Amino acid sequence: MPEPRTLPLVVASVEDVTPHMRRIQLTGPSLDAFEYFPGQDLALGVVRQDGSIVRRRYTIRRFDADRRLLDVEVVMHGDGPGIQWARAAHRGLAVEAIGPRGKIGLDQNASWHLFAGDATALPGAFAMMETVSARVRASAYLLVADPTERQRFDAADPIRTVTWCYENSGGGRDDLVAAAAASSPDAGHAYLAGEVALVSALKAALLGRGWSADQVSAKAYWNRGRANAGHGEPEIKA
Ligand SMILES: Cc1cc2nc3c(=O)[nH]c(=O)nc-3n(C[C@H](O)[C@H](O)[C@H](O)COP(=O)(O)OP(=O)(O)OC[C@H]3O[C@@H](n4cnc5c(N)ncnc54)[C@H](O)[C@@H]3O)c2cc1C
Repeated sequence: MPEPRTLPLVVASVEDVTPHMRRIQLTGPSLDAFEYFPGQDLALGVVRQDGSIVRRRYTIRRFDADRRLLDVEVVMHGDGPGIQWARAAHRGLAVEAIGPRGKIGLDQNASWHLFAGDATALPGAFAMMETVSARVRASAYLLVADPTERQRFDAADPIRTVTWCYENSGGGRDDLVAAAAASSPDAGHAYLAGEVALVSALKAALLGRGWSADQVSAKAYWNRGRANAGHGEPEIKA
C-alpha cells in the first residue's frame, strides 16, 4: 500500500470534459516518484468561506509520471467548498494534497469486475477498468444527469462495457440498480461509489441477488443535502 504524503501541487490546466464534469490537472515536483493504485484518491485542502480549511477527496483519474501530471475530475453540482474550489481553479493555483488515499483497488482474484455508481464514481471506475487484465470482463453502470454527461471509454476489448442511466429521464436510480443487479455474481467483485443512498441501494440489491459481502466494496462519496465532514467523507456510511 503506497504511503500517503503531503503533496504541494499547482493547477496545470482546467478543462470541462462534459457540461458538469471538470478535469483539473495537477502538477509539481512532489509528484516525482509518486505511486498509487487505480481507485485511490487525493485529499485536497480547500478553503471554506469562513477561511478554515477542509479536505475534499477526488479520485485519481490518470497519472502521467513522465510529465508529472495528475488528473482529477470534479462533478460540478452543489455549492460546497470542493465545488467552489473547482469553479475557481486556474492554471498556477496552489493546492496542498494528501495522498494517495483509499484502500479499494482491483481484486486481482476476481473473475470479472462490476462498477456502479453516480457521476462521482466515473473517474475511479474508468481508471480501474483501464487496468483490468486482458480477457477479464468488466462492466460499468453509471448514473449521470443526461446523455451530455457521458464520457467515452476507449475499450481495447469488447468485454469492457459501460451502461448509462439518466437522472433526468426514464427510471434514473431504479434503472441503474436493476441493471447493475441483473448480472449473476459468479466469482466477480463489485465496486460501488457515489451518493450514500444510491450506494446503499446498490449494495442491498447485489446482496439480495446472491453476492457475498466480501465480493462487494462500497464507498459513500457524498450525502445529498448534507455537507461532507472536514476530513472529506460523508458522516453517514453506506
Ligand atoms: C474517496 C472519495 C473519492 C471521491 N472522488 C470523487 C471524484 O472523483 N469526483 C467527484 O466529483 N467527487 C468525488 N468525491 C466526492 C467529493 O469529495 C465531494 O464530496 C464533492 O465534490 C462535494 O464537495 P463539496 O465541498 O463541494 O460539497 P459538501 O460541502 O460536501 O456539500 C455541500 C452540498 O453539496 C451537495 N453535493 C455534494 N456533492 C454533490 C453532487 N455530486 N451532486 C449534487 N449535490 C452535491 C451536498 O449534498 C451538500 O448539500 C469523492 C469522495 C470520496 C470520499
